[in-house]
Amino acid sequence: MRSKFTVTGIVQGVGFRPFVYRIALENNLRGYVKNMGDGSVEIEVEGLKEDIERFVLKLFSEKPPLAKIEEVKRIDFDDELKYESFKVLKSDFEERASASLIPPDIGICEDCSRELFDPKSRRYRYHFITCTNCGPRFTIIERYPYDRFNTSMVDFPMCSMCAEEYYNPRDRRFHAETIACASCGPRLMLFDGNGSKVNGDPIKLAAKFLDEGNILAIKGVGGFHIALSAYNDDAILKIRRWKGREQKPFALMAKDVETVKTFAYVDEVEEKILSSPSKPIVLLDLKEGSCISKYVSPGLHNVGVMLPYTGLHLLIFSESKTDVLIMTSGNLPSEPIIIDEKEAMKSFSQIVDYYLIHDRRILYRCDDSVVRKVDGKTCFLRRSRGFVPEPLYVKGVVDALGVGGEENVTGCVVSSGKMYLTQYIGDVENIETLEYLKSALKRMVNLTACKPKAVAHDLHPTFNTTVYAKELSTQQGIPSFPVQHHHAHIASVMAEHGLEETVGIAADGFGYGLDGNAWGGEILYCEKGRFERVGHLEEQPYLGGDLAAKYPARMVLSILYKTPYLDRWLISNIQKFPHGSREVDFLNLQLESRNYILTSSFGRILDAVSTILDVCYVRTYEGEPALKLESLAKKAVGHYRIEPTIEDGVLLTTPIIENVIEDLEKFPAAELAYAVEECLAEGMAKIAVEKAKEFGVKAISFSGGVAYNEHISKAIRRVVESNNIKLYRNVYAPAGDGCVSLGQAYLAGKYFLG
Ligand code: ZN
Ligand code: ZN
Ligand code: FE
Repeated sequence: MRSKFTVTGIVQGVGFRPFVYRIALENNLRGYVKNMGDGSVEIEVEGLKEDIERFVLKLFSEKPPLAKIEEVKRIDFDDELKYESFKVLKSDFEERASASLIPPDIGICEDCSRELFDPKSRRYRYHFITCTNCGPRFTIIERYPYDRFNTSMVDFPMCSMCAEEYYNPRDRRFHAETIACASCGPRLMLFDGNGSKVNGDPIKLAAKFLDEGNILAIKGVGGFHIALSAYNDDAILKIRRWKGREQKPFALMAKDVETVKTFAYVDEVEEKILSSPSKPIVLLDLKEGSCISKYVSPGLHNVGVMLPYTGLHLLIFSESKTDVLIMTSGNLPSEPIIIDEKEAMKSFSQIVDYYLIHDRRILYRCDDSVVRKVDGKTCFLRRSRGFVPEPLYVKGVVDALGVGGEENVTGCVVSSGKMYLTQYIGDVENIETLEYLKSALKRMVNLTACKPKAVAHDLHPTFNTTVYAKELSTQQGIPSFPVQHHHAHIASVMAEHGLEETVGIAADGFGYGLDGNAWGGEILYCEKGRFERVGHLEEQPYLGGDLAAKYPARMVLSILYKTPYLDRWLISNIQKFPHGSREVDFLNLQLESRNYILTSSFGRILDAVSTILDVCYVRTYEGEPALKLESLAKKAVGHYRIEPTIEDGVLLTTPIIENVIEDLEKFPAAELAYAVEECLAEGMAKIAVEKAKEFGVKAISFSGGVAYNEHISKAIRRVVESNNIKLYRNVYAPAGDGCVSLGQAYLAGKYFLG
């Protein structure tokens, strides 16, 4: 008998054909396997029926680790064509690659790690060792098809030994486009701070320099890292001064899981994601009294940690006495990560002592991904290296684009029923990051053969992304649609879970509201492409917009305005206003004359409490006061409670703040912090449940930066589930503003074109 299969999914560039070859031979089958131009793989086998069935079982159960099978179409024939053997046929690349999926960059696999330290291996201590199961992909591919000549490996012609492996279907490196060895592949070089080459073994020297307390710039997979010992207070403070980064935590890279466990708690789920092929940064709770510098993540209970993900990283740790390094993105403040050595040497000249670089071009930059376990589930803070460009499958969407908001931006491309989020871009406030967004979107459009019929953007009229979307609309002659920020948040959850109708809780710092006010604690009823604001946090005066975000004391003042609590608080807290009583007088005047916009921001309430409890009163990075408040609340037992007050779908925040001031001396700060989080979560969840019942909806969605807060997420789920309603959260996209483009593109592709 004879059977023909068409396999779609991530099946190219992941060692699928050698795998098929192997299981075909094992089962005495003849025929062929072939990569198709649309990204699928075609297989034809003939032989005994039971052998074919065993082959099919293995196709699913033993597939290579990086392969993802989306669909297998099978046609059976009674006849046989009398193939002589089983062959891997030449790729068929005539069609346009519309269904193709290139794999993300993958951390070094176990086989390669073993060979790296095996003196008998041909690639012993070769820093760029890879195989079909591992190595860079997304960052080095210029265009389809995924073949060596379309990647930056084109600069390195294979030596005869590599070529032999490359063309041998029985070899693990059969058609591994990144195949290389010490004699033919990319090389490492070490330069000092003045740009002069340092002679000697670059890895041994780099390790020694790190041990001696130097700061190194290391060229990696998706860009440069700035690396230094995580134990060295002086060097860390030096970096903080240079980056203008007083408090924001740095990510770490630790030698192995055992090392991570010396300074952080790692449970089973976290260990699995930490060592997964994507090798993301995982936020872990710090152990008390650990040896790493207190300047790594000041004021926080957790720290971001990743494991080595290239041969180069492993070799550095094998030579170095330092088992934990800070590995922070090599970029200038609010600019994209640097991928080019000349630019690196220019930009880092004031701070970096040595540069460890290689001569393979990084074609597309990609930051490290960041994840955190929240309420038992892994969620993305940043979805980038190791995950992009894996798509989200949705139904009934036409090709469209979403350009995101302003902070933590990603772009989104809908193409042939799949949604692709770009890598993390950053805050699109300047030309550099805007250009990065443009190029990342353009590339994704090309890779996915997207033919957009619409582009969606934020409702904010002056965001750079809004202006960009309108340009795209004119250039391409397609309509552009504005999407309210929190609607986009909830729509992203609807896209991920296929919800047609939901009540959404969108909780974050800021989003431009329909009324021009600063929304941020919203309950939205969403049905298909439309939404209705059915509840929110009490609106408070937002004095000076961004200034109130930077100095949360301004929020305390506007919340307590005209209450007896204000003077009581001001008396000992005037120093929390940078200009003291002069500023307070001025703000009082503004309040008097009603010269302000309003905000229902969830984040700003957490900030206000953080300030009252002396946790943080100047925000130096996004979310700082709320994150530090969360760290404090973790220490609570939970015996103090604040009851939520709800009026007509509005959760009042003034009584919460009054409560805190009232009981400031009576209870430990941690208890107050915990009670505020609990009260806000419960209040919002209660409104959402009430509205869900009103509308007869069985699904509540939760999105926004607040969804990273473990305690708040748990409390919301408790209330929702105790009412027999299901709670949905972002799984594919970050719950913060990284999901905004996804929500936008989904609404545009599914509903707005009618
Ligand atoms: Zn490998
Ligand atoms: Zn070679
Ligand atoms: Fe948001």
